Amino acid sequence: MKLRRIGFTTSFPVEVVFAAGCIPVDLNNAFLTQDSDSHIHNAEIKGFPRTICSWIKGNYNAALTSGLDQVIGIVQGDCSNGNSLVDMIAEEGIPIYRFSFPPQRLYNDLDSQIAKLEAHFGVSRSDTTKVKLRLDEIRTKLQILDSWTWKERLVSGKENHLWLVNSSDFQGNPDRFEEELDIFMNIAAQRDPLPTHLRLAYLGVPPIYRNLYDTISDLGGDVLFNEVQRQFSMPFSTPDIVEQYLQYTYPYSVFDRLKDIQTELDCRRIDAVISYTQSFCHLQIDNLLIKKYIDIPFLTLEGDQPEDMDSRTLLRLESFFEVHG
Ligand code: SF4
Repeated sequence: MKLRRIGFTTSFPVEVVFAAGCIPVDLNNAFLTQDSDSHIHNAEIKGFPRTICSWIKGNYNAALTSGLDQVIGIVQGDCSNGNSLVDMIAEEGIPIYRFSFPPQRLYNDLDSQIAKLEAHFGVSRSDTTKVKLRLDEIRTKLQILDSWTWKERLVSGKENHLWLVNSSDFQGNPDRFEEELDIFMNIAAQRDPLPTHLRLAYLGVPPIYRNLYDTISDLGGDVLFNEVQRQFSMPFSTPDIVEQYLQYTYPYSVFDRLKDIQTELDCRRIDAVISYTQSFCHLQIDNLLIKKYIDIPFLTLEGDQPEDMDSRTLLRLESFFEVHG
């Protein structure tokens, strides 16, 4: 029997989808790993304005072209465009489900949202918890990989980014993901520590630039902390699924993100911060507060299209390295 494929727009309790025997598909990863230019082009042909974030256009067209049976739109706790995006997907005949992270970050409210999701997929809390315990085995390995990035320096910032960002859906197959992770970690364990002249943090949503990590490493730095990607990997040691998604900072206030960021900047002895913002994204406003409360060198970069970094942005990055490198 063909397994149902369930698209989603940002990390949410994916355990429920696996517990229902379905394959989760993170539309952001689908967008960026497929022909991302044509995803954007097709969305614009459908009428999406130029002044809407490229991730939204990419998510929209990836949803239409990924053979999905349903899309879960995270309409509270993610993107201000979330509701309109899922309406457009529904208009194309794909069933949608709206999931909300409660803005007050209250246990009972989130518990009730997860219970509704479980009822929608016909699974119990014990089914969900069983899957969580299995995924936690893989997440524990990802925590080791993360520590190898900033402590032992066996893993580069780019590798860290790729593994953590893909843990949002485990590429639809946790067993295969774990096998490939084991192979990678066995290789990394044999390496000599990587050199780093400038210990950087990367804050914000994953970059749309194709060559950001390579460029940073060419300039002599490396990213030792990928903020949101690490959140996607759920690095929280809690047996309770509700607690796990309460500790996950991304859906809540920027001040919740800031607490996590400050802790990790100190612990990882970060020298400087690159804060990425996406053109036409409301998170550019959150970036104002992040910048205000971080007192180490701070560079904001803004990306728009899935492409290599433009020369102006490259120049800003080079100048930042000249001053702080
Ligand atoms: S980058 Fe910002 S505007 Fe774009 S999809 Fe993400 S949250 Fe929404």
